[in-house]
Amino acid sequence: MATATARKPAKAAAKTNSRPATSVKGGKITYFFGKSKCDGKGDMKGLLGGKGANLAAMTRIGLPVPPGFTITTEVCTYYYDNGKRFPPNMAGDLAKAVVWLEKETGKKFGDPKNPLLVSVRSGSRDSMPGMMDTILNLGLNDATTDGLKAATNNGRFAWDSYRRFVQMYGDVVMGVQKRHENEHEPFDEVMDELKREVSALQDTDLNEGDLKELVRRYKALIKERTGKEFPADPVKQLEGAIGAVFGSWMNERAVLYRQKYRIPDDWGTAVNVQSMVFGNMGDDCATGVAFTRDPATGANVFYGEYLVNAQGEDVVAGVRTPNKISEMAKDPIIGPAFRELERVRKTLEKNFGDVQDFEFTIEKKKLFMLQTRNGKRTALAYVKIAHDMVKEKLMTPEHAIRSGDPEALNQLLQPIFDRDAYAAAKKEGRLMATGLPAGPGAASGAVVFTASKAEELAAKGQHVVLARIETSPEDLRGMIASDGILTCRGGVSSHAALVARQMGKVCVAGAGEIHIDYHTGKLTCGGITLKEGDPISINGSTGEVINGAIATADSELKQVLVGKTLKPADSPVFQYYNSLMKLADKYRKLGIRTNADQPDQVTNAVAFGAEGIGLCRTEHMFFEGDRIIAVRQMILADNEVDRKGALALLLPHQQKDFEGIFRALNGLPACIRLLDPPLHEFLPQHDNEKGQKEVATQLKTTVEKVMQRVNELHEFNPMLGFRGCRLGIKFPEISEMQARAIFQAAAAVLKEGIKVKPEIMIPLVGFKKELDLQVEIVHRVAGEVMKETGKKFPYSVGTMIEVPRGALTADEIAETAEFFSFGTNDLTQTCLGMSRDDSGSFLPSYQSSEIIKTNPFASIDTTGVGQLMKIGVEKGRKTNPDLKIGICGEHGGDPSSVVFCHTIGLNYVSCSPFRVPIARLAAAQAALKDAK
Ligand code: ADP
Ligand code: MG
Ligand code: MG
Repeated sequence: MATATARKPAKAAAKTNSRPATSVKGGKITYFFGKSKCDGKGDMKGLLGGKGANLAAMTRIGLPVPPGFTITTEVCTYYYDNGKRFPPNMAGDLAKAVVWLEKETGKKFGDPKNPLLVSVRSGSRDSMPGMMDTILNLGLNDATTDGLKAATNNGRFAWDSYRRFVQMYGDVVMGVQKRHENEHEPFDEVMDELKREVSALQDTDLNEGDLKELVRRYKALIKERTGKEFPADPVKQLEGAIGAVFGSWMNERAVLYRQKYRIPDDWGTAVNVQSMVFGNMGDDCATGVAFTRDPATGANVFYGEYLVNAQGEDVVAGVRTPNKISEMAKDPIIGPAFRELERVRKTLEKNFGDVQDFEFTIEKKKLFMLQTRNGKRTALAYVKIAHDMVKEKLMTPEHAIRSGDPEALNQLLQPIFDRDAYAAAKKEGRLMATGLPAGPGAASGAVVFTASKAEELAAKGQHVVLARIETSPEDLRGMIASDGILTCRGGVSSHAALVARQMGKVCVAGAGEIHIDYHTGKLTCGGITLKEGDPISINGSTGEVINGAIATADSELKQVLVGKTLKPADSPVFQYYNSLMKLADKYRKLGIRTNADQPDQVTNAVAFGAEGIGLCRTEHMFFEGDRIIAVRQMILADNEVDRKGALALLLPHQQKDFEGIFRALNGLPACIRLLDPPLHEFLPQHDNEKGQKEVATQLKTTVEKVMQRVNELHEFNPMLGFRGCRLGIKFPEISEMQARAIFQAAAAVLKEGIKVKPEIMIPLVGFKKELDLQVEIVHRVAGEVMKETGKKFPYSVGTMIEVPRGALTADEIAETAEFFSFGTNDLTQTCLGMSRDDSGSFLPSYQSSEIIKTNPFASIDTTGVGQLMKIGVEKGRKTNPDLKIGICGEHGGDPSSVVFCHTIGLNYVSCSPFRVPIARLAAAQAALKDAK
């Protein structure tokens, strides 16, 4: 993407950086973690990055962590603020830190007899899996490799470590990488060729001599590609590696990732320099990754993988197929280490209060911990783990709320396969293969083999399943575009699985029976061959891959809450969800309402936890059935009498609608907005002569008359035109009819013994007098209806604040209004002078040029629109302290906007029915932020 690479990181960071650029100078640059000294702590993630802070935390609780030190994120920020230069005290502090580490380990950097070897690892505040590059075995050169061989009496190991180092350094620091998507990794290619020459099946089959040869060829490859020699001096190596880690903060993958997850560029990454432990010294060594619980389902089982005689990323990269962690117990050599791992699993959950995703290495039967972090999980796992761990008293309820991603709750509403269609497909023999269930849910779509194809088809609105032999960070865009991800290689901790879980994508990983040939563009399995574009279905909950498309069905949650086809007691998912929602309700201060115009929508929203309607748009009711005829009659009427006649026809329909809504609400409040859109929206326009003719026939008038009225109603700027309360000001009889319909419905439903709470909302008010005129009508009609029906019903009248003048004169308006509701869609349009429907042509450029951070129509522009809201709240409550204030724009369901609404003291947010759970969780998080 041109925009990502074209950005000027140093400048951008400088502008938004809140820390002074000089803050590092003379300050503390390195934080040690080791037995003799541990400077860092678990809560220092901002400064030390997540990895560094947790390495310190693990060291503090006595877990076996190889010692090392962390270079702070401030150095990274400094580096980008100062034209990619290190702070002046960097070199000195680094040298001191190395001396400390040498003492701590009893080894020496560059010492051929007993060389200190380190890893150089990136680590930002939030983990960015696979985004930044790690270098292992740094400190090796020809001399120290011989030293390592002598010290360990293991030549194969020494040279294997060396070749890995040259490979990683060549790739990450010197930039020897594949040049396009379907090229093989250049170092892998060199290794594969050597393997062929010596008939080695796996990398472990290469002997010391082979590995020596491999190092020679790797160095030659580096020289050929870069024209430079591989550096032998460990200090040079260290400096190069540290620079590369900082450099990788701005690589395209990292930038893209941060954009997706809204991580600010100026957070920077820390660098961890850590003494090496080795999982590749022989069969009494291993390396692995594990989760303290299953991150896909949330089940309380030890979950993970390991490889014997391997190092670093081997497990994740799918070099060999890893073993399940549970199998380790049976391993005759490293079995005992498993028992220690089990203990660590408990210790971690207890100390960190959440599911941990950790990395370990076993060196000569001894366990070492290399990383831990809160495990990324699916929404399903999130609700189950929160439910279980809070119950087990391992997790605080506050953390259960805080750690959730409100937006991700959408996953719980995603479709699953239709049970019957799925069974039928299997009966027909369409089951192709079974891989690992790595991201639950159902995905069905066209199979594609490259990220670019996935993006291309998705842009056309197609559902796609991205199938790769294995994925790498380069595939990220394609993964974002796909409904599902399928890989042939790699385990539950592979890149594909990790990313899928995080993004909530359906994923089947490591379906080994499937073969993909990128060159011919074909996927084969048994006798079946699929080419790009053919339909395929994957079941991320079972790992099954099925030939062809399969119909999908509602999620369990929807079956319980919407379809009511599943009993709550029969759905564990519902119970976990429900316990979390109840917890959220305990913390949140904001009320949650819904935007709904129909009884069934109301029922759904209430099932999801809505406490009333925040916006009922009456115009939607105007289109239903043949009532549009009466609406058009009203619009075409030449005089008040005709207009009233037409409105009288509409009245019973509107009343029925409101009755349905009041019944569905069963006593909850209903904020009903009077007619808002410009009238032309109800007539066929110029480009629809046929429609105009139909209307003429329907209304027994001439086409000319219809056309004339369409012309009269034509506006250059309908958004700023004859709409909102302006309609009711010019045609009071419209407001009168609507008020009557609402109140008659209220009286009728009240008669049935159901409570009602209508709130009549006048749209687009900018002047107090506008509201006064409309309120007068509402009160008059209310009095009339009460008299006519003999029923007393409660009601209130308020206004939408959706033009800047309304917000700025809120004190005046609040003298009349009993409530405000921020119509943030229009308020954004009018504040920014930007039409939502026309902004598509320039908004993306605005975002890539960083004029705006996020789409203001999706997330409240807090500094602009937000100010108007604050003014509205303050001024409004000044004259009317009891003023109830809500929001009913699209933003009411956006988590960060919900937090903002809480901050400025709104009483409730209102959002679409299916976003109610999201708003509930976001509101609880907002309240907890306050409490902190
Ligand atoms: P990432 O952030 O991509 O997970 P890491 O910094 O965790 O990268 O390192 C990649 C791999 O290298 C991990 O498997 C990690 O356990 C391993 N590793 C890192 N440092 C060391 C070390 N000092 N000794 C042994 N293995 C290490
Ligand atoms: Mg790691
Ligand atoms: Mg509006």
